[in-house]
Amino acid sequence: MNKVGLTFKGGIHPPHHKTHTENKAIEVTPVPKEVVIPLAQHIGAPCEPVVKVGDYVKVGQLIGESKAFVSSPIHSSVSGTVKKIEKRPSPGGARVNSIVITTDGEQAIHESVASKGKLEDLTADEIKNIIKNSGVTGMGGAGFPTHVKLSPPADKKIDLLIINGAECEPFLTSDHRVMLEMPEKIINGTRAVMKALSVDKAVIGIENNKPDAIKVIKEAVKEAPEITVAELQTKYPQGGEKSLIYAVSKKEVPSGGLPMDVGVVVQNIGTVVAISNAIETGMPLIERVVTVTGSAVREPKNLLVKIGTSFKDVIEYCGGYSEELGKLINGGPMMGIAQYTDEVPIIKGTSGILVLNKKDAVRPDPTNCIRCAKCIVYCPCGLQPLIISKNSLMGRFEEAERYNALDCIECGVCSFVCPSKRPLVDSIRMAKKEIIEKRKKS
Ligand code: SF4
Ligand code: SF4
Repeated sequence: MNKVGLTFKGGIHPPHHKTHTENKAIEVTPVPKEVVIPLAQHIGAPCEPVVKVGDYVKVGQLIGESKAFVSSPIHSSVSGTVKKIEKRPSPGGARVNSIVITTDGEQAIHESVASKGKLEDLTADEIKNIIKNSGVTGMGGAGFPTHVKLSPPADKKIDLLIINGAECEPFLTSDHRVMLEMPEKIINGTRAVMKALSVDKAVIGIENNKPDAIKVIKEAVKEAPEITVAELQTKYPQGGEKSLIYAVSKKEVPSGGLPMDVGVVVQNIGTVVAISNAIETGMPLIERVVTVTGSAVREPKNLLVKIGTSFKDVIEYCGGYSEELGKLINGGPMMGIAQYTDEVPIIKGTSGILVLNKKDAVRPDPTNCIRCAKCIVYCPCGLQPLIISKNSLMGRFEEAERYNALDCIECGVCSFVCPSKRPLVDSIRMAKKEIIEKRKKS
Protein backbone atom coordinates (compact mmCIF):
# COMPACT_ATOMS: atom_id res chain seq x y z
CA MET A 1 0.00 0.00 0.00
CA ASN A 2 1.50 3.33 -1.12
CA LYS A 3 1.04 5.87 1.68
CA VAL A 4 2.91 8.69 -0.06
CA GLY A 5 0.85 11.64 -1.29
CA LEU A 6 -1.80 14.05 -0.04
CA THR A 7 -4.88 12.61 1.60
CA PHE A 8 -7.83 13.01 4.02
CA LYS A 9 -8.97 11.51 7.33
CA GLY A 10 -10.65 8.09 7.27
CA GLY A 11 -11.16 6.10 4.09
CA ILE A 12 -10.20 2.61 2.98
CA HIS A 13 -8.07 0.69 0.49
CA PRO A 14 -10.38 -1.63 -1.45
CA PRO A 15 -8.86 -3.78 -4.24
CA HIS A 16 -8.50 -1.59 -7.37
CA HIS A 17 -9.53 -4.07 -10.07
CA LYS A 18 -8.32 -1.52 -12.64
CA THR A 19 -5.80 -3.70 -14.47
CA HIS A 20 -8.50 -5.08 -16.81
CA THR A 21 -8.85 -1.71 -18.58
CA GLU A 22 -6.23 0.81 -17.43
CA ASN A 23 -3.93 0.05 -20.38
CA LYS A 24 -6.70 -0.08 -22.97
CA ALA A 25 -6.95 2.95 -25.25
CA ILE A 26 -10.35 4.56 -25.73
CA GLU A 27 -12.29 3.02 -28.64
CA VAL A 28 -15.11 4.82 -30.44
CA THR A 29 -18.28 2.73 -30.51
CA PRO A 30 -20.36 2.57 -33.70
CA VAL A 31 -23.58 4.59 -33.95
CA PRO A 32 -26.38 2.32 -32.64
CA LYS A 33 -29.63 1.69 -34.54
CA GLU A 34 -31.55 3.55 -31.87
CA VAL A 35 -30.79 5.87 -28.96
CA VAL A 36 -32.97 6.65 -25.95
CA ILE A 37 -32.10 10.07 -24.56
CA PRO A 38 -33.63 10.85 -21.14
CA LEU A 39 -34.86 14.42 -20.62
CA ALA A 40 -33.59 14.38 -17.02
CA GLN A 41 -29.92 13.44 -16.76
CA HIS A 42 -29.05 16.05 -14.17
CA ILE A 43 -29.91 17.38 -10.74
CA GLY A 44 -32.68 20.00 -11.07
CA ALA A 45 -35.71 20.54 -13.27
CA PRO A 46 -36.25 17.95 -16.04
CA CYS A 47 -36.33 19.25 -19.61
CA GLU A 48 -39.37 19.44 -21.87
CA PRO A 49 -39.00 18.12 -25.42
CA VAL A 50 -38.61 20.76 -28.15
CA VAL A 51 -38.99 18.22 -30.96
CA LYS A 52 -41.92 15.95 -31.82
CA VAL A 53 -42.41 12.43 -33.12
CA GLY A 54 -41.49 12.27 -36.82
CA ASP A 55 -39.02 15.19 -36.71
CA TYR A 56 -35.62 14.71 -38.33
CA VAL A 57 -32.84 15.69 -35.91
CA LYS A 58 -29.12 16.19 -36.34
CA VAL A 59 -26.07 15.69 -34.13
CA GLY A 60 -25.79 18.48 -31.55
CA GLN A 61 -29.35 19.71 -32.07
CA LEU A 62 -31.26 20.91 -28.99
CA ILE A 63 -34.04 18.40 -28.27
CA GLY A 64 -34.98 19.25 -24.67
CA GLU A 65 -34.79 22.32 -22.44
CA SER A 66 -36.15 23.89 -19.28
CA LYS A 67 -36.58 27.50 -18.24
CA ALA A 68 -35.37 26.68 -14.69
CA PHE A 69 -31.86 27.90 -13.78
CA VAL A 70 -30.99 24.61 -12.09
CA SER A 71 -31.38 22.39 -15.14
CA SER A 72 -29.38 21.48 -18.21
CA PRO A 73 -30.46 21.26 -21.86
CA ILE A 74 -30.38 17.97 -23.77
CA HIS A 75 -29.02 17.56 -27.31
CA SER A 76 -29.22 14.79 -29.87
CA SER A 77 -26.14 12.56 -30.09
CA VAL A 78 -27.14 11.21 -33.49
CA SER A 79 -28.88 12.14 -36.74
CA GLY A 80 -32.14 10.38 -37.42
CA THR A 81 -35.89 10.48 -36.83
CA VAL A 82 -37.72 10.91 -33.54
CA LYS A 83 -39.65 7.66 -33.13
CA LYS A 84 -41.25 8.12 -29.72
CA ILE A 85 -41.30 10.42 -26.71
CA GLU A 86 -42.24 8.35 -23.69
CA LYS A 87 -41.15 7.19 -20.24
CA ARG A 88 -38.28 4.69 -20.34
CA PRO A 89 -36.08 3.14 -17.62
CA SER A 90 -33.04 5.26 -16.82
CA PRO A 91 -29.85 4.37 -14.90
CA GLY A 92 -31.00 6.50 -11.94
CA GLY A 93 -33.66 3.88 -11.23
CA ALA A 94 -36.81 5.81 -12.23
CA ARG A 95 -38.69 5.79 -15.53
CA VAL A 96 -37.87 9.09 -17.20
CA ASN A 97 -39.49 10.91 -20.13
CA SER A 98 -37.11 10.14 -23.00
CA ILE A 99 -36.69 10.89 -26.69
CA VAL A 100 -36.26 7.74 -28.77
CA ILE A 101 -34.43 8.36 -32.06
CA THR A 102 -33.99 5.91 -34.94
CA THR A 103 -30.57 6.73 -36.35
CA ASP A 104 -29.77 7.10 -40.06
CA GLY A 105 -26.01 6.51 -39.71
CA GLU A 106 -25.21 9.80 -41.49
CA GLN A 107 -24.23 11.66 -38.32
CA ALA A 108 -25.20 14.95 -40.00
CA ILE A 109 -24.09 17.84 -37.79
CA HIS A 110 -26.67 20.47 -36.82
CA GLU A 111 -26.13 24.01 -38.17
CA SER A 112 -25.96 25.44 -34.62
CA VAL A 113 -22.71 23.53 -33.96
CA ALA A 114 -19.83 25.94 -34.57
CA SER A 115 -16.68 26.98 -32.76
CA LYS A 116 -17.22 29.67 -30.13
CA GLY A 117 -13.85 31.23 -30.88
CA LYS A 118 -10.71 31.64 -28.83
CA LEU A 119 -10.85 31.48 -25.04
CA GLU A 120 -8.92 34.77 -24.71
CA ASP A 121 -11.70 36.57 -26.64
CA LEU A 122 -14.52 35.26 -24.42
CA THR A 123 -15.77 36.94 -21.23
CA ALA A 124 -16.56 35.00 -18.04
CA ASP A 125 -20.31 35.38 -18.69
CA GLU A 126 -19.92 34.19 -22.29
CA ILE A 127 -18.06 31.08 -21.09
CA LYS A 128 -20.78 30.33 -18.53
CA ASN A 129 -23.44 30.74 -21.23
CA ILE A 130 -21.61 28.38 -23.59
CA ILE A 131 -21.34 25.82 -20.78
CA LYS A 132 -25.05 26.22 -19.94
CA ASN A 133 -26.24 26.02 -23.55
CA SER A 134 -24.01 23.01 -24.23
CA GLY A 135 -25.70 20.95 -21.52
CA VAL A 136 -22.50 20.41 -19.55
CA THR A 137 -23.08 18.73 -16.19
CA GLY A 138 -20.79 17.10 -13.64
CA MET A 139 -19.62 13.88 -15.27
CA GLY A 140 -18.38 12.15 -12.14
CA GLY A 141 -21.84 10.75 -11.45
CA ALA A 142 -23.96 13.34 -9.60
CA GLY A 143 -24.87 15.33 -12.73
CA PHE A 144 -25.02 18.79 -11.17
CA PRO A 145 -25.40 21.46 -13.89
CA THR A 146 -21.95 22.99 -14.32
CA HIS A 147 -23.10 26.56 -15.02
CA VAL A 148 -24.82 26.60 -11.61
CA LYS A 149 -21.61 25.53 -9.87
CA LEU A 150 -19.79 28.32 -11.70
CA SER A 151 -22.29 30.96 -10.52
CA PRO A 152 -21.75 31.18 -6.75
CA PRO A 153 -23.55 33.93 -4.77
CA ALA A 154 -21.69 37.26 -4.67
CA ASP A 155 -20.66 36.74 -1.03
CA LYS A 156 -18.82 33.50 -1.83
CA LYS A 157 -15.35 34.37 -3.08
CA ILE A 158 -13.80 31.46 -4.97
CA ASP A 159 -10.01 31.35 -4.96
CA LEU A 160 -9.21 27.77 -5.92
CA LEU A 161 -10.35 25.42 -8.67
CA ILE A 162 -9.66 21.72 -8.18
CA ILE A 163 -9.92 19.30 -11.08
CA ASN A 164 -10.81 15.85 -9.84
CA GLY A 165 -8.59 13.25 -11.50
CA ALA A 166 -8.58 10.94 -8.47
CA GLU A 167 -10.86 8.27 -9.96
CA CYS A 168 -10.80 6.38 -6.68
CA GLU A 169 -13.77 4.15 -7.48
CA PRO A 170 -12.53 0.56 -8.07
CA PHE A 171 -12.75 -0.87 -11.61
CA LEU A 172 -13.20 2.52 -13.36
CA THR A 173 -10.48 3.83 -15.67
CA SER A 174 -12.34 6.27 -17.94
CA ASP A 175 -10.85 9.43 -16.35
CA HIS A 176 -7.42 7.76 -16.31
CA ARG A 177 -7.57 7.17 -20.07
CA VAL A 178 -8.90 10.68 -20.72
CA MET A 179 -5.90 12.10 -18.81
CA LEU A 180 -3.52 10.01 -20.92
CA GLU A 181 -5.20 10.67 -24.26
CA MET A 182 -6.69 14.19 -24.01
CA PRO A 183 -4.32 16.31 -21.87
CA GLU A 184 -4.66 19.44 -24.05
CA LYS A 185 -8.44 19.39 -23.72
CA ILE A 186 -8.06 19.07 -19.94
CA ILE A 187 -5.80 22.13 -19.84
CA ASN A 188 -8.09 24.13 -22.20
CA GLY A 189 -11.20 23.24 -20.21
CA THR A 190 -9.48 24.03 -16.91
CA ARG A 191 -8.41 27.44 -18.22
CA ALA A 192 -11.99 28.13 -19.34
CA VAL A 193 -13.38 27.32 -15.89
CA MET A 194 -10.68 29.46 -14.25
CA LYS A 195 -11.70 32.39 -16.43
CA ALA A 196 -15.40 31.80 -15.74
CA LEU A 197 -14.69 31.85 -11.99
CA SER A 198 -12.01 34.59 -12.12
CA VAL A 199 -9.56 32.43 -10.19
CA ASP A 200 -5.82 32.44 -10.86
CA LYS A 201 -5.02 29.03 -9.38
CA ALA A 202 -6.05 25.50 -10.31
CA VAL A 203 -4.86 22.12 -9.07
CA ILE A 204 -5.40 18.81 -10.85
CA GLY A 205 -5.53 16.07 -8.21
CA ILE A 206 -4.52 12.58 -9.36
CA GLU A 207 -4.16 9.43 -7.24
CA ASN A 208 -0.64 8.01 -7.24
CA ASN A 209 -1.78 4.65 -8.64
CA LYS A 210 -1.78 6.44 -12.03
CA PRO A 211 1.88 7.49 -12.40
CA ASP A 212 1.57 7.60 -16.21
CA ALA A 213 -1.32 10.08 -15.98
CA ILE A 214 0.59 12.20 -13.46
CA LYS A 215 3.54 12.29 -15.87
CA VAL A 216 1.41 13.24 -18.89
CA ILE A 217 -0.53 15.97 -17.07
CA LYS A 218 2.65 17.36 -15.45
CA GLU A 219 4.14 17.64 -18.92
CA ALA A 220 0.98 19.35 -20.21
CA VAL A 221 0.90 21.95 -17.41
CA LYS A 222 4.47 23.06 -18.21
CA GLU A 223 2.77 25.43 -20.68
CA ALA A 224 0.24 26.52 -18.02
CA PRO A 225 2.06 27.66 -14.86
CA GLU A 226 -1.25 28.69 -13.24
CA ILE A 227 -2.18 24.99 -13.08
CA THR A 228 -0.36 22.51 -10.85
CA VAL A 229 -0.66 18.78 -10.26
CA ALA A 230 -1.25 17.32 -6.78
CA GLU A 231 -0.22 13.70 -6.27
CA LEU A 232 -2.81 12.11 -4.03
CA GLN A 233 -2.53 9.03 -1.89
CA THR A 234 -4.48 6.13 -3.36
CA LYS A 235 -7.34 5.82 -0.93
CA TYR A 236 -11.11 5.58 -1.27
CA PRO A 237 -13.05 7.99 -1.42
CA GLN A 238 -10.21 10.33 -2.40
CA GLY A 239 -12.39 11.70 -5.22
CA GLY A 240 -15.23 12.74 -2.89
CA GLU A 241 -15.40 16.54 -3.05
CA LYS A 242 -14.81 17.11 0.66
CA SER A 243 -11.99 14.53 0.81
CA LEU A 244 -10.31 16.02 -2.25
CA ILE A 245 -10.57 19.59 -0.99
CA TYR A 246 -9.03 18.58 2.34
CA ALA A 247 -6.23 16.61 0.67
CA VAL A 248 -5.31 19.45 -1.68
CA SER A 249 -5.90 22.55 0.47
CA LYS A 250 -6.40 21.32 4.07
CA LYS A 251 -9.67 23.28 4.07
CA GLU A 252 -12.62 21.57 5.76
CA VAL A 253 -16.08 22.05 4.26
CA PRO A 254 -18.38 22.62 7.25
CA SER A 255 -21.26 20.28 8.11
CA GLY A 256 -24.18 21.11 5.81
CA GLY A 257 -21.88 23.33 3.73
CA LEU A 258 -20.66 23.33 0.15
CA PRO A 259 -17.16 23.63 -1.37
CA MET A 260 -17.93 27.27 -2.21
CA ASP A 261 -18.16 27.95 1.57
CA VAL A 262 -14.39 27.44 1.73
CA GLY A 263 -13.72 29.24 -1.57
CA VAL A 264 -13.30 26.12 -3.70
CA VAL A 265 -15.00 24.74 -6.81
CA VAL A 266 -14.35 21.14 -7.89
CA GLN A 267 -14.85 19.90 -11.45
CA ASN A 268 -14.40 16.44 -12.90
CA ILE A 269 -11.89 15.54 -15.63
CA GLY A 270 -14.64 14.61 -18.11
CA THR A 271 -16.47 17.85 -17.40
CA VAL A 272 -13.53 20.07 -18.35
CA VAL A 273 -13.05 18.05 -21.54
CA ALA A 274 -16.74 18.63 -22.40
CA ILE A 275 -16.22 22.37 -21.75
CA SER A 276 -13.16 22.42 -24.02
CA ASN A 277 -15.21 20.74 -26.80
CA ALA A 278 -18.13 23.15 -26.32
CA ILE A 279 -15.82 26.13 -26.89
CA GLU A 280 -13.46 24.72 -29.48
CA THR A 281 -15.89 22.91 -31.81
CA GLY A 282 -19.20 24.12 -30.41
CA MET A 283 -20.35 20.51 -29.96
CA PRO A 284 -22.60 20.15 -26.91
CA LEU A 285 -22.23 17.26 -24.46
CA ILE A 286 -23.44 14.34 -26.59
CA GLU A 287 -20.89 11.62 -25.85
CA ARG A 288 -18.64 10.48 -23.04
CA VAL A 289 -15.93 7.97 -22.12
CA VAL A 290 -17.24 4.91 -20.28
CA THR A 291 -15.36 1.96 -18.74
CA VAL A 292 -17.11 -1.35 -19.37
CA THR A 293 -15.66 -3.99 -17.06
CA GLY A 294 -16.29 -6.75 -14.52
CA SER A 295 -16.23 -10.54 -14.26
CA ALA A 296 -19.15 -11.19 -16.65
CA VAL A 297 -18.18 -9.12 -19.70
CA ARG A 298 -16.07 -10.85 -22.34
CA GLU A 299 -13.69 -7.99 -23.28
CA PRO A 300 -13.48 -5.09 -20.80
CA LYS A 301 -12.83 -1.78 -22.59
CA ASN A 302 -12.81 2.01 -22.35
CA LEU A 303 -15.24 3.41 -24.90
CA LEU A 304 -16.33 6.76 -26.30
CA VAL A 305 -20.09 6.31 -26.44
CA LYS A 306 -22.99 8.43 -27.79
CA ILE A 307 -25.36 9.47 -25.01
CA GLY A 308 -28.52 7.37 -25.32
CA THR A 309 -26.75 4.17 -26.46
CA SER A 310 -28.10 1.22 -24.45
CA PHE A 311 -25.98 -0.71 -21.95
CA LYS A 312 -26.95 -3.77 -24.02
CA ASP A 313 -25.40 -2.35 -27.23
CA VAL A 314 -22.25 -1.36 -25.37
CA ILE A 315 -21.87 -4.76 -23.71
CA GLU A 316 -22.41 -6.45 -27.08
CA TYR A 317 -19.62 -4.28 -28.52
CA CYS A 318 -17.42 -5.70 -25.74
CA GLY A 319 -18.11 -9.27 -26.90
CA GLY A 320 -21.26 -9.74 -24.80
CA TYR A 321 -21.73 -11.50 -21.48
CA SER A 322 -19.05 -14.09 -20.76
CA GLU A 323 -21.18 -15.87 -18.15
CA GLU A 324 -24.54 -15.58 -16.42
CA LEU A 325 -25.13 -12.05 -15.18
CA GLY A 326 -25.22 -11.56 -11.40
CA LYS A 327 -25.39 -7.79 -11.16
CA LEU A 328 -25.28 -4.86 -13.58
CA ILE A 329 -24.19 -1.51 -12.14
CA ASN A 330 -24.21 2.03 -13.52
CA GLY A 331 -20.86 3.28 -12.14
CA GLY A 332 -18.50 1.45 -9.83
CA PRO A 333 -19.04 -1.06 -7.01
CA MET A 334 -18.93 1.50 -4.18
CA MET A 335 -21.23 4.28 -5.36
CA GLY A 336 -22.86 2.81 -8.46
CA ILE A 337 -26.55 2.02 -8.89
CA ALA A 338 -27.68 -1.57 -9.62
CA GLN A 339 -29.80 -1.94 -12.77
CA TYR A 340 -32.70 -4.34 -13.33
CA THR A 341 -32.31 -4.31 -17.12
CA ASP A 342 -29.58 -3.69 -19.70
CA GLU A 343 -32.11 -1.71 -21.77
CA VAL A 344 -31.08 1.51 -20.03
CA PRO A 345 -29.15 4.26 -21.81
CA ILE A 346 -25.71 5.71 -21.18
CA ILE A 347 -26.30 9.19 -19.75
CA LYS A 348 -24.00 12.15 -19.09
CA GLY A 349 -23.08 10.78 -15.64
CA THR A 350 -22.30 7.19 -16.69
CA SER A 351 -18.60 6.80 -16.00
CA GLY A 352 -18.70 3.03 -16.07
CA ILE A 353 -20.76 -0.11 -16.49
CA LEU A 354 -19.85 -2.88 -14.09
CA VAL A 355 -20.93 -6.35 -15.19
CA LEU A 356 -20.59 -8.89 -12.37
CA ASN A 357 -21.08 -12.64 -12.42
CA LYS A 358 -23.24 -14.48 -9.88
CA LYS A 359 -20.33 -15.15 -7.53
CA ASP A 360 -19.14 -11.53 -7.38
CA ALA A 361 -22.67 -10.24 -6.93
CA VAL A 362 -23.37 -12.16 -3.71
CA ARG A 363 -24.05 -9.95 -0.69
CA PRO A 364 -23.76 -11.79 2.66
CA ASP A 365 -26.75 -11.63 5.02
CA PRO A 366 -26.39 -8.98 7.75
CA THR A 367 -25.93 -9.96 11.38
CA ASN A 368 -26.21 -7.92 14.59
CA CYS A 369 -23.96 -4.91 15.17
CA ILE A 370 -21.06 -5.85 17.44
CA ARG A 371 -20.29 -2.18 18.21
CA CYS A 372 -16.74 -2.46 16.90
CA ALA A 373 -16.86 1.24 15.77
CA LYS A 374 -15.08 0.48 12.49
CA CYS A 375 -17.76 2.36 10.54
CA ILE A 376 -17.03 5.47 12.64
CA VAL A 377 -13.25 5.19 12.37
CA TYR A 378 -13.25 4.90 8.57
CA CYS A 379 -16.10 7.28 7.65
CA PRO A 380 -14.45 10.10 5.64
CA CYS A 381 -17.12 12.56 6.82
CA GLY A 382 -16.60 11.95 10.54
CA LEU A 383 -20.13 10.54 10.98
CA GLN A 384 -21.50 7.81 13.22
CA PRO A 385 -23.01 5.50 10.59
CA LEU A 386 -24.24 2.85 13.06
CA ILE A 387 -26.37 5.41 14.94
CA ILE A 388 -27.75 7.11 11.83
CA SER A 389 -28.55 3.72 10.34
CA LYS A 390 -30.22 2.43 13.50
CA ASN A 391 -32.44 5.53 13.70
CA SER A 392 -33.28 5.27 10.03
CA LEU A 393 -34.28 1.61 10.30
CA MET A 394 -36.53 2.52 13.26
CA GLY A 395 -38.13 5.37 11.28
CA ARG A 396 -36.60 8.02 13.57
CA PHE A 397 -35.51 10.34 10.78
CA GLU A 398 -35.35 13.48 12.94
CA GLU A 399 -32.83 11.74 15.15
CA ALA A 400 -30.87 10.64 12.05
CA GLU A 401 -30.87 14.28 10.93
CA ARG A 402 -29.52 15.34 14.34
CA TYR A 403 -26.57 13.01 13.69
CA ASN A 404 -25.89 14.87 10.39
CA ALA A 405 -27.24 12.20 8.02
CA LEU A 406 -27.30 14.79 5.23
CA ASP A 407 -23.50 15.09 5.39
CA CYS A 408 -23.19 11.47 4.23
CA ILE A 409 -21.74 11.31 0.72
CA GLU A 410 -22.99 7.71 0.27
CA CYS A 411 -19.45 6.48 -0.37
CA GLY A 412 -20.22 3.02 1.04
CA VAL A 413 -17.08 2.88 3.22
CA CYS A 414 -19.08 2.03 6.34
CA SER A 415 -20.84 -0.90 4.64
CA PHE A 416 -17.51 -2.09 3.21
CA VAL A 417 -15.73 -2.23 6.60
CA CYS A 418 -18.64 -3.49 8.69
CA PRO A 419 -17.86 -7.06 9.86
CA SER A 420 -21.59 -7.67 10.44
CA LYS A 421 -22.38 -6.56 6.85
CA ARG A 422 -25.07 -4.17 8.12
CA PRO A 423 -26.97 -2.32 5.34
CA LEU A 424 -25.52 0.98 6.54
CA VAL A 425 -25.33 3.05 3.38
CA ASP A 426 -28.74 1.86 2.16
CA SER A 427 -30.45 2.82 5.41
CA ILE A 428 -28.63 6.16 5.58
CA ARG A 429 -29.65 6.89 1.98
CA MET A 430 -33.25 6.18 3.00
CA ALA A 431 -32.95 8.60 5.95
CA LYS A 432 -31.54 11.31 3.67
CA LYS A 433 -34.42 10.87 1.24
CA GLU A 434 -36.99 11.19 4.05
CA ILE A 435 -35.26 14.25 5.55
CA ILE A 436 -35.05 15.99 2.17
CA GLU A 437 -38.72 15.20 1.39
CA LYS A 438 -39.76 16.61 4.77
CA ARG A 439 -37.71 19.76 4.21
CA LYS A 440 -39.28 20.24 0.77
CA LYS A 441 -42.78 19.96 2.25
CA SER A 442 -42.07 22.44 5.03
S1 SF4 B 1 -21.84 7.29 6.65
FE1 SF4 B 1 -21.90 7.97 4.54
S2 SF4 B 1 -20.01 9.15 4.29
FE2 SF4 B 1 -19.75 7.89 6.14
S3 SF4 B 1 -18.78 6.02 5.42
FE3 SF4 B 1 -20.98 5.62 5.41
S4 SF4 B 1 -21.61 6.11 3.31
FE4 SF4 B 1 -19.58 7.05 3.60
S1 SF4 C 1 -18.92 -1.44 11.67
FE1 SF4 C 1 -20.83 -2.63 11.74
S2 SF4 C 1 -20.62 -3.92 13.53
FE2 SF4 C 1 -19.04 -2.31 13.72
S3 SF4 C 1 -20.08 -0.68 14.90
FE3 SF4 C 1 -20.42 -0.21 12.76
S4 SF4 C 1 -22.41 -1.16 12.30
FE4 SF4 C 1 -21.68 -2.08 14.17
